[in-house]
Amino acid sequence: MIRDPLASYRDRFVGASSSLVYFDGNSLGRPLKVTGPRLAAFVEEEWGGRLIRGWDERWFDLPRTIGDELGRVVLGAGPGQAAIGDSTTVLLYKLMRAAVAARPGRTEIVIDRDNFPTDRYVAAGIAAECGLTLRWIDVDTSAGVTADLLSDAVGPDTALVVLSHVAYRSAWLADVPELTRIAHDAGALVLWDLCHSVGSVPLSLDDWGVDLAVGCTYKYLNGGPGAPAFCYVATRHLDDLVQPIQGWMGAVDPFLMGPAYAPASGIRRFLSGTPPIVGMLAVQDMLALIDEVGMPAVREKSVALTEHAISVADGTLAAAGVEVASPRDPARRGGHVTLNHPLMREVTAALWERDVIPDYRDPGGLRIGLSPLSTSFEEVDRGLEMVRGVLADLTA
Ligand SMILES: *Cc1c(COP(=O)(O)O)cnc(C)c1O
Repeated sequence: MIRDPLASYRDRFVGASSSLVYFDGNSLGRPLKVTGPRLAAFVEEEWGGRLIRGWDERWFDLPRTIGDELGRVVLGAGPGQAAIGDSTTVLLYKLMRAAVAARPGRTEIVIDRDNFPTDRYVAAGIAAECGLTLRWIDVDTSAGVTADLLSDAVGPDTALVVLSHVAYRSAWLADVPELTRIAHDAGALVLWDLCHSVGSVPLSLDDWGVDLAVGCTYKYLNGGPGAPAFCYVATRHLDDLVQPIQGWMGAVDPFLMGPAYAPASGIRRFLSGTPPIVGMLAVQDMLALIDEVGMPAVREKSVALTEHAISVADGTLAAAGVEVASPRDPARRGGHVTLNHPLMREVTAALWERDVIPDYRDPGGLRIGLSPLSTSFEEVDRGLEMVRGVLADLTA
């Protein structure tokens, strides 16, 4: 038996006690049990009871209130630098566009070929829109961007570097302070995508000197399908960056309804239109839970879960030709483990039929997502035993 001081937190999640094995909390986290009643109460009391008055009383400030909670509990960011509102994709557009505008005369955006598709697609769209060039970093799909690779890619033409903290495929955990320093030494800004790290890997954005960041709230922050994303803009950039979607909610006085747009001061200028209030409530429940447990303890369990999954894979799956395609050094690995085998696409389909839910990523990767507070070690054992059995059947 592995010692698990956080084991009891699993009971706080809907469905965690069922026999289903859930290895996809890094794509969509389970709901917390407190979230259903909280949303019902919101409909009855706040939406139904306060009606339009709710905007003045609480909702107008909620993107920034929750932004500050995110900053304190999971981002390592002081108040006034984070807000929640659009999707990650839209926020990537807004921040990348603001960043390249702040580096006039520089002609390149640096990004790696294994970054998440939406990050690459948005960067390509901005390059086309602004007449810039994408400078690609080639990476090994079972690793990620290193200091040497980034140093070779940046230079006097680099306007912006766009990187993921944890690679969605391999779980490679990038060295944020080191890579940020390399980008800064070249005079560039850097935007970190935190989708696969926030809520599972501790962050210290202020101390690391990060300029800009975005992240999801529906993965390790359990905000629910389509829950809005957050952005972080360091205080030193708040008053000179201008984002392109100039809506009334980011204007200096939204209720003046004036003839021309003037951006609000502070993080509110990164908002655009009416924020999705109902969608942002559930994430507060997960932030409260993480606050109770503490990010260091969350990370400790996350590392123990991925170490366990790797040791089971080495012990029982290696003989069938399964390879660990995630870093073996826990200091360089996020909260999931990818196991490669040419048949993993078929294995994933068979597992879903048996109520074991991982996901599949090319080339041949079975992705085992281990949401620290809702996953048990016994669940990892059961799920990987099923992988062994299914592979044996498929190759018999
Ligand atoms: C999940 C994920 C996204 C998703 O973006 P959406 O706009 O929410 O669809 C973006 N980037 C990374 C690295 C992700 O893991």
